[in-house]
Amino acid sequence: MSEPLFRRVALIGIGLIGSSLARVLQRDRLAGEIVACARRRETLDKVVELKIADHVTDDPAEAAKGADLVVLATPLSAYREIARRIAPALEPGTIVTDVGSVKELMIEHVAPLLPEGVHVVPGHPVAGTEHSGPEHGFAEMFRDRWCILTPIPGGPREPVDKVARLWEAAAMRVVEMPAEHHDRVLAMTSHLPHLIAYTIVGTASDLEESLKSEVIKFSAGGFRDFTRIAASDPVMWRDIFLNNREAVLEMLQRLTEDLFALQRAIRWGEGDKLQELFTRTRAVRRSIIEAKQA
Ligand code: NAP
Repeated sequence: MSEPLFRRVALIGIGLIGSSLARVLQRDRLAGEIVACARRRETLDKVVELKIADHVTDDPAEAAKGADLVVLATPLSAYREIARRIAPALEPGTIVTDVGSVKELMIEHVAPLLPEGVHVVPGHPVAGTEHSGPEHGFAEMFRDRWCILTPIPGGPREPVDKVARLWEAAAMRVVEMPAEHHDRVLAMTSHLPHLIAYTIVGTASDLEESLKSEVIKFSAGGFRDFTRIAASDPVMWRDIFLNNREAVLEMLQRLTEDLFALQRAIRWGEGDKLQELFTRTRAVRRSIIEAKQA
């Protein structure tokens, strides 16, 4: 039997994304040993019940000890503290990667906390659902989705290629780009849509009671899709906005200007402007379907 890709993989954070990766590691025998780390006993008990790791611990340093791959899969706000705790346990040559939705954080704030000889390979599998926790993970979540790696410029190739092979095994399409570029692109494609959904659902829930019940009753007319997005994990999304502030504010500024233009078109009865926009946006949807990302 051939050697697994990694000897010992430490998954720090074993929720939706971490547990989905654990399932891929197990399915394809990519790790000699899988260690899962989380803070709460109930999370660890669930992991034991699901049999998706060989060991569980609430101590990140213990999980990272002897690992040749450490994957951070917690909310972003936990990264720095975890980096401080695992640093003394890491051996030279260990790869530390992550799955976080904002990438400059890894380069600016996590890499400097880790010892020399440890290879940091920031990553973001762009896949997921609005659910959280290990019970909701599944290996097929990653299939045909993009995984974006944002390697540290000038770093060695081998660790990046190894992390790429991991995500390719999960049937992802792996691409590399600078972290700053990733954060701007995702601000538009992911972070802003979530902000809009949180706003719309928030506005609706502020409406007086009677109207709110009608909102729920007739939600099929578009509102329902926003409620699905707005049901995403509050801590994870708080962290994304706090850590991608500049890019999100830039995209929000553009959106605000476009909203004002639309408001004006509606006020002045400029149907041609509305129709032209809606025709363009319909074409965007078609191209997403053609790219099999729908
Ligand atoms: P999740 O389901 O809420 O899981 C988070 C996990 O981290 C839980 O196991 C949690 O367990 C653990 N955790 C939290 N703080 C910790 C700490 N200080 N030390 C150790 N473990 C800790 O979250 P998720 O959806 O998998 O998201 C994880 C990361 O993936 C986030 O950074 C997010 O940006 C990124 N991401 C998410 C999606 C998505 O659609 N959900 C997609 C792509 C990337 P305890 O509470 O028991 O500690």
